[in-house]
Amino acid sequence: MNKAYRIGKIIGIPIKIDISFLIVLPLFAWFFSSQTQPFGFAGIQSEIIKYTLSLLTAILLFVSVLVHELAHSYFTLRFGGSIKEIRLHLLGGAAVMKQEVHEPLKVITIVAAGPVSSIMMGVLLLFLGSTLNPVSLKDGNSLFLVVFILGYVNLFLGIFNLVPAFPMDGGRILRAFLSIHMDYVKATEKAVLIGKIFAVLIGILGLFIDIWLLLIALYIYGNASREEQLVKMIYRRY
Ligand SMILES: [Zn+2]
Repeated sequence: MNKAYRIGKIIGIPIKIDISFLIVLPLFAWFFSSQTQPFGFAGIQSEIIKYTLSLLTAILLFVSVLVHELAHSYFTLRFGGSIKEIRLHLLGGAAVMKQEVHEPLKVITIVAAGPVSSIMMGVLLLFLGSTLNPVSLKDGNSLFLVVFILGYVNLFLGIFNLVPAFPMDGGRILRAFLSIHMDYVKATEKAVLIGKIFAVLIGILGLFIDIWLLLIALYIYGNASREEQLVKMIYRRY
């Protein structure tokens, strides 16, 4: 397991940042500093303000991921499960379960809580940004740009996580729905198959639109396969 540093504790859960996170944080800050408005701060004259706002946005982006994971964790605890820790890493975050909850309806609530919290934050931030900002995003106060970008990213995070493909939350919601009517391994197999179909579709889309989508598709495909193997290993060993 990668090295991680503990930065605090929220609702009794240790929050850790993975060493890979420390590499990706400046990369995100650089990304925001190089994008033009309203998705970045490239237009700002003062270098200090530009990079400070970019770093602030990158940090708040990971705070958003933390809130998403805390929403999963809150319901896990409410339903009698337990969480070992929340880790922030290269690709976002993960709540590491100590004791999982298995009843399908509770699982659906736990998993859906993440994307729902992201979408709610996204809508709220976009609303706040557009209501409080007196002038257009192009010429307005740069701080509102931070609010707008975070709103946009949270909304994207929430909606993208609902794609029914592992490791996205949507894949877990789909499996939980399927497991109401069938055995857990069968439900996983079906959810994995649907996830792979989505991965192929995203991959094909990536060939025409953006090479990044192709990488995401490969990541989803790989994770879907891994999830299937993991579940089969745990449930069919004895
Ligand atoms: Zn999630």
